[in-house]
Amino acid sequence: MQLTVPLEIEIREEAKRLFANMRHLDYSMSECMLFAPITLKINRLKKQKNAVILAHNYQRPEILFGVADFTGDSFGLSVEAKRTNADLILFCGVVFMAETAKILNPSKKVLISSLEAGCSLSESITAADVRKLKALHPNVPVVTYVNTSAEVKAESDVCCTSANALKVIEAMPGNEVIFLPDIFMAQNLRKQTNKQIHSWNGKCIVHEIFTKEQIMSYKKQYPDMKVLAHLECRPEVIEVSDLAGGTSDMYNFIKKSTAKRFMLVTECGMSDLLRARFPEKQFINPCAVCPYMKKINLENILGSLEKEKFEISVPEPIREKAQSALDKMIAIGK
Ligand code: SF4
Repeated sequence: MQLTVPLEIEIREEAKRLFANMRHLDYSMSECMLFAPITLKINRLKKQKNAVILAHNYQRPEILFGVADFTGDSFGLSVEAKRTNADLILFCGVVFMAETAKILNPSKKVLISSLEAGCSLSESITAADVRKLKALHPNVPVVTYVNTSAEVKAESDVCCTSANALKVIEAMPGNEVIFLPDIFMAQNLRKQTNKQIHSWNGKCIVHEIFTKEQIMSYKKQYPDMKVLAHLECRPEVIEVSDLAGGTSDMYNFIKKSTAKRFMLVTECGMSDLLRARFPEKQFINPCAVCPYMKKINLENILGSLEKEKFEISVPEPIREKAQSALDKMIAIGK
């Protein structure tokens, strides 16, 4: 009985830590008390195993504020994965992101807590498709968005993220690029570059649902708000937005802006994260949920860490080629 008292105190302290951030997202202290025992266990296990948790901005608040060591977009997490001294990396995101961490850290064990965390963009294209495109456009550099499998990255000259896609395209030699796999991102980038872009018909199931009409009706209601849209959105949505970019671009825009009201045209997790980071700002939420990102939860994170299950592996010849494409992207930077 005496032993349970300190644990209860620890759980209460952990719940207070969670509540400090999550109260801005309307979580109550009693809800945080439910998360606290499991976040405590995960954080202890991380220390025991010298593990690090990298969490994408679209993850659930209890993951972002409870157990993540680093949060960010694909680019930031790729850099962090390369920099870490941890023996074990647990990736809270989707499978292609965990693969990216493994590609950059071949000597480290990389886990993902659910192998069902796929991605409609990543699944839209195979390595054989890329080879066919290369045969159709010989000697044209292949720029591949990081939301792709290791095999597709291995067929590419360079990778990019939504934060640096334009910079990477501009850095390529010649006047043409093959840009894969997001059709809307390719259409949006065509408006910003003189290079000819050959595209693929991949789409993000989250960002394709936003419409111009939806954005315009919110704008009518809140004329002072700034609209920040993800580059994976349709071109007509981007046209009526104040910013088109990745999630890190959204964060930086809000940090510098004197505006009080913002609408994020992206996955709900990003709005939650920014509402907690900027409690003095107001966020209008037309958000959509990524069902793949939400396959990750505290219970399967704990199970994966405890048993070190769902390890990511990438065959060495593919890993080496994919690493070369990622290294070139990191060298080009944002
Ligand atoms: S939000 Fe879209 S691009 Fe990101 S993981 Fe989900 S389906 Fe893929």
